[in-house]
Amino acid sequence: MALLAFVVSSLPSSFDLPAAPQERQIKWPTKTIQIALSTSLLSPSPGIKADSDVVGAVQRALNSWSTITNIAFVVSSSKTQSISPSHSGDGINLITVAPASENLALFGEAKSTARTRVFYDTETGEITEADIAINPYPYSDDGTPIQFSTDGTFGTYDLESTLAHEIGHLLGLNHSHVIAATMQASQGLNGTYGLPALTGRTLGDADIAAARNLYGSREKAGTIEGRILDSIDGNLLPANAAHVWIEDLPAGRVIASTLTTANGRFIINGVPPGSYRALAEYLDGPADEAVALTAAAMDHDSRARQRAFRSVEIRSRVRVIPDKVTALNYVLVPPQNSPPTLNPRFIGTNGELSTVPVPARAGTKLTIYVSGEGVDQVPGTGLVMSSPFITVDPASLTLQQFPGSTPVISFDVTVAPNAPPGDYSIRLQSNSGETAYLVGGITLRSKS
Ligand SMILES: [Zn+2]
Repeated sequence: MALLAFVVSSLPSSFDLPAAPQERQIKWPTKTIQIALSTSLLSPSPGIKADSDVVGAVQRALNSWSTITNIAFVVSSSKTQSISPSHSGDGINLITVAPASENLALFGEAKSTARTRVFYDTETGEITEADIAINPYPYSDDGTPIQFSTDGTFGTYDLESTLAHEIGHLLGLNHSHVIAATMQASQGLNGTYGLPALTGRTLGDADIAAARNLYGSREKAGTIEGRILDSIDGNLLPANAAHVWIEDLPAGRVIASTLTTANGRFIINGVPPGSYRALAEYLDGPADEAVALTAAAMDHDSRARQRAFRSVEIRSRVRVIPDKVTALNYVLVPPQNSPPTLNPRFIGTNGELSTVPVPARAGTKLTIYVSGEGVDQVPGTGLVMSSPFITVDPASLTLQQFPGSTPVISFDVTVAPNAPPGDYSIRLQSNSGETAYLVGGITLRSKS
């Protein structure tokens, strides 16, 4: 029997936005963005393993975004060490690892691998500057110093994955609730699950859709637009900060995701033509600042805060046509709008549980662990992958003995040799019929 361990070594990174409710999506007004690499990236840094390919990691991370959208980066070198203070930008979009006081101040309270400070016009939403500070002294919960690396060394953070995530913030993207997305809030150490943690280097479909939503692409694309309402005592109230995502039919890959605004509305642009399944879930607590911001905005509102609801498939087939808007509206009714009792929150493999995705390879079999309230009420036949390319062996379901925590189950999945690269969800259905998802919990990346 595998020894189970909760991995707590995944640090969140942060989007350092000015403290204003962000209903408006922010973006760069131009298609060319100047990036200044601080000379601190060229010198040895205590936080970066010696002989790491730092400049290569920066260049590859920039390229992953510029190749999928109409953005070009122009990179130059700069003697500037410090990011701009929050009240006054200097017009330089800096990437730095220098231990300058302004940079260190970002990491005083919140421990994170890196942070991005974005300056934008609150009237127009146009970004005027963005600075990325890589933590010069990352350390673990118990105070042990940790380094970045570019070679997958266990016990270090992958610098290219960190940069790919922060450059997404620089472009105006917020955190994704697709577990395998590069824009997911937490980053695992290399060695989590006994594997290198490099999947963040390669953008997932949800990351690509989010960037194309802002900057377009040369590909033909359509839009899904709608509103989610909650039926309470005969009144229809907007479902705020509901996570809406789509999976392609028939492969079952997570293609795009978004959050509803305070009025329950959502828009997913840049969706490749095709057929999709659309789903929605309630996010348990302010998992990121977008939720925190909208929740804070709701506090000042006379209406009640959003009520919890149960995960639900809102449409089994949505057709997306190039240059067309597909309407997708949904009303939550009982028992969907009651609080969830099934809350899978951790995923893992090789005896470890975490909040970062499980990397898988086509043509292999692996044992998946899931933990959270109510997962012990899910029968083997209630475990289904979003994709026909990945199958669950229902007879392998095991309730792990793990006293003092929420229940932990394990089960075996087989990934077909012809499974396409992508991020796949696990669907759990309890004996009572309630469903819940680990959205994009398993990732097949072509490069990993
Ligand atoms: Zn982040």
